[in-house]
Amino acid sequence: MERRDFLRGLALLAACPLCVKTAYAAEGVHWSYEGEAGPEHWGSLSKDNSACAAGSQQSPLDIRDAIKADIPDIAIDWKSGGTILNNGHTIQVKAAPGGTLRRGDKTYDLVQYHFHAPSEHLVEGKSFPMEVHFVHKHAETGALGVFGVFLVPGAANKTFASLAAAFPQKGGEEASLDGADPSGLLPSALSYWAYEGSLTTPPCSEIVDWMVAMNPIEVDPADIKKFTALYSMNARPALVANRRYILSSS
Ligand SMILES: [Zn+2]
Repeated sequence: MERRDFLRGLALLAACPLCVKTAYAAEGVHWSYEGEAGPEHWGSLSKDNSACAAGSQQSPLDIRDAIKADIPDIAIDWKSGGTILNNGHTIQVKAAPGGTLRRGDKTYDLVQYHFHAPSEHLVEGKSFPMEVHFVHKHAETGALGVFGVFLVPGAANKTFASLAAAFPQKGGEEASLDGADPSGLLPSALSYWAYEGSLTTPPCSEIVDWMVAMNPIEVDPADIKKFTALYSMNARPALVANRRYILSSS
C-alpha cells in the first residue's frame, strides 16, 4: 500500500470506522475512481484483479454499430423493499428476495441494484448523467445478468425520489426501505442492447450478460444532485469492444 493511501486510511479510520471496513476489508484491496488506485491501475492492485487489465471482454462499452437481431424479450418481475447501503463506492439497494428477470429460457434472480454518475456505458460516444445497474444472478450457472438503465434530468420519478431521500450519507451506513418499487425505474419499453462483458468494478470478472435499455428514464435533477453530492464520479471509462458484437432488439 502506498504511504499516502495508508495515511488516508488512518484518517478515514478516525472519521468513520465502518467506511474503512467496507473499503479495505470487506472488498479486499482498496480501489477508487481516480489517482493511484484508479481504473488504469485496478489490474495491478491485486492478482485477483488481473482481468481488469488483461481481460478481452471488459465493460463498460461505448455502444455503437449494434446489429439488429432476433433476441428474446425481457420479462421483469421485481419486488418492492429491501435495504439501502452506502458501500463507499456507490449507493446500493439489496433487493427484496423473489425478484426475477427472464430472458428467453434464462431466469435470473435480482440480487442488488446500484447507481453510477455519470453513466458507464456510452451510446455513440455520448454519456448520460447517471446509470442504474440491476444485478441478477442465474440460480444454476452463477452467471450474472445485469440490466442497465440511463437516467436523465426531467420529470420526477417516484422510486428514485424515495431512494434519494433515503441515501445513507456515510460509507458503511445501511437503512431499511419502505416499499421502494424498483420497477418504477424501468422505461416504458424494454428494447435493449445485449453483449457479453464483465463487472465494471474490481475484480472485473468476465461473467456478465449485459443488457442495456435503449430508452432512458427521467428523474428530478434535484435527486441527481443528491447522488452526485455523495458520488460525483464513480464510472469506469469505456473499454474497447475487441470484435465483440453488440446486438439490438429493435
Ligand atoms: Zn454498476
